Amino acid sequence: MANEDRAVGVVGLGNMGLGMAATLLGQGFAVAGYDLSAERCALAGAAGVTIAHDLPTLARGAATVVLSLPLARHVAATVEGDDGLVAHALAGSVIIDTSTSEAATSRRLAALCAARSIGFLDAPVSGGPAGASAGTLAIMIGGEASHVAAARPVLDAMGTKVLHVGPSGAGNVAKLVNNLLVASHLLTMSEAMRLSEAAGVPAADVLMVVNAASGRSAVSEVNYPRWIESGGFDSGFTMGLMRKDVGLAAALAAEVGANLPMSELAARLWSESAVGLADGEDFNRITQWHPGPRSSS
Ligand code: NAD
Repeated sequence: MANEDRAVGVVGLGNMGLGMAATLLGQGFAVAGYDLSAERCALAGAAGVTIAHDLPTLARGAATVVLSLPLARHVAATVEGDDGLVAHALAGSVIIDTSTSEAATSRRLAALCAARSIGFLDAPVSGGPAGASAGTLAIMIGGEASHVAAARPVLDAMGTKVLHVGPSGAGNVAKLVNNLLVASHLLTMSEAMRLSEAAGVPAADVLMVVNAASGRSAVSEVNYPRWIESGGFDSGFTMGLMRKDVGLAAALAAEVGANLPMSELAARLWSESAVGLADGEDFNRITQWHPGPRSSS
């Protein structure tokens, strides 16, 4: 790989983006970063990331640009416009959008980029800040195979499971489906734990059984021991981001006319929990919340 191909720009140096930037640095890439927050830029600078003062500067110096931004509209604002990436990126470069974004936005941006010979992959990730820092993310990708091939070294540096799902937008759909499951599993596991306690068997004992039997999931095997039972609630993924994902999954279901009654209930409960659980709280806190006592019939 030529030296110039090892120049990567990372836009969004938050919980995920900073970990990815540090991983890429550790794997020998030259990493430039950009974030609206001076505090995040300072942290990234201290980790060895070269801070770009604006997006055009970052775009002109990178063969690959990784985005890690909160919402689809932030992704669009970063890519489009006179000062956006598409106006300044090198022909042949690839933008890897790891944000949990929207398929329609990804398809529009991929078409815009293609007109200028720039690749755009929707490549949302799973594995949290710990996976970003360790380079062990699962990455689910929508886009053209040639762009995936060009971005391979960067994708392989950031993740251990790099899955090309299909055309533009397919990565976003896969991510929303995955997170809808996690959001639902958190609710059903917390209900199962409450049932167990109410019936006189300590939750920890039933958790041990679930994890040795067929009711287990990543929520029971990872979230419960690591962030819930430990009392840590420091996963680095917030209630606000999970509410966003559940809302996007519900919007996708409405758009494609899918009738998903269980998921609709899960989406309603995640939304109602906003009364007691602020967006900044750890998303595992949903297991401490419930909609009140059983109504008598
Ligand atoms: P975060 O809020 O910690 O970081 C986002 C960063 O983007 C912030 O530092 C913010 O200042 C910056 N930013 C916002 N708008 C910007 C712009 N226009 N230009 C430059 N910088 C801008 O969020 P996060 O937890 O790192 O999540 C990032 C994305 O990854 C989200 O889409 C999230 O849904 C997804 N994700 C997060 C996790 C997790 O566990 N945190 C896991 C998987 C996926």
